[in-house]
Amino acid sequence: MKALFLGVGEACDPRHGNTSVLLTTADGATVLLDCGFTAAHRFFAACDDPDRLDAVWISHFHGDHFFGIPLLLLRFLDMGRRRELALVGQEAIEQKIRHLMEMAYPGFMAKLGFALRFHVASPAGALSLAGLRWRTAPTRHSQPNLGLLLDDGSSRLYFSGDGRPGDRVAALVRDCDLAIHEAFRIKDEVPGHGSIGGCLRLAKRTGIRRLALVHLEGRTRQEHGPEITAILARHPTLVLPQEGDLLVLA
Ligand SMILES: [Zn+2]
Ligand SMILES: [Zn+2]
Repeated sequence: MKALFLGVGEACDPRHGNTSVLLTTADGATVLLDCGFTAAHRFFAACDDPDRLDAVWISHFHGDHFFGIPLLLLRFLDMGRRRELALVGQEAIEQKIRHLMEMAYPGFMAKLGFALRFHVASPAGALSLAGLRWRTAPTRHSQPNLGLLLDDGSSRLYFSGDGRPGDRVAALVRDCDLAIHEAFRIKDEVPGHGSIGGCLRLAKRTGIRRLALVHLEGRTRQEHGPEITAILARHPTLVLPQEGDLLVLA
C-alpha cells in the first residue's frame, strides 16, 4: 500500500489543507480517506483519471472531513466518469451525502452519469471492498467518529479520523504497519481530540510500527515548532507528513 498525503491540516488551518489521504493498494485500487473542504481540488491535482478512484471513506460528519464530496462528484460528472463509486461511512452516510449534494448542486445527483454505492461501516462487523478488509472502532470525539483499519493481506494501515483513542482502537491497531493519527495538541489539552503524547502512548502500548501525525492545530504547529521537532528527533518511528508526501508500506 502507498499513502499520498493530500492534506495534513485541521479545519481552520490556513497553511495546510484538511487532512485527506489517497491510498493505493498493491493491486492498484484507490481509496480516498476523508474528503473535507479542501480535499477535492488536491485529489484532482494528484489524479486526472475520472474512473480511477474506487472508494471514499468518511470518518465522521464534520465539514473538514466530508464537505468536499459535492465538488468531488461535480468534477467527476464534468470529467465524464462512468464507473460506480463506493462511499463508505457511518449509518447516515447515504442520507448525509444526498442532503449535502442537494444543498450544493440541486438536482445533480440524478444526472451524475455514474452510480454511487453506499456502504455502512460498523465496529460490529468487517467489510470487504477494493481488495481490502475494512474494520473500525469508535474514537472519543464531539461527533461519532470511526477509526478505520485497512488490511490488504500483506500490510495494515490505520486512519484515525478525529478523536482520542480508547481501548477498542488499541485492540484494532495492534502491530499495524502505519497509523495516520490526528494530534491536535502536544498533550491532551483538548477533550475529544488526540495529541502527540497520546499517540506516542498508543504506539508504545500497541506496537504500531510507524506513526504519522496529522490534523495538528494550526496555532500549535506554528508556535511549538521546535518542541515538535525535538519530539520527532527522539522518536524515529514518528513522522510529521507534509502535503504531497508519500509513505510506502511493504
Ligand atoms: Zn477534523
Ligand atoms: Zn471532527
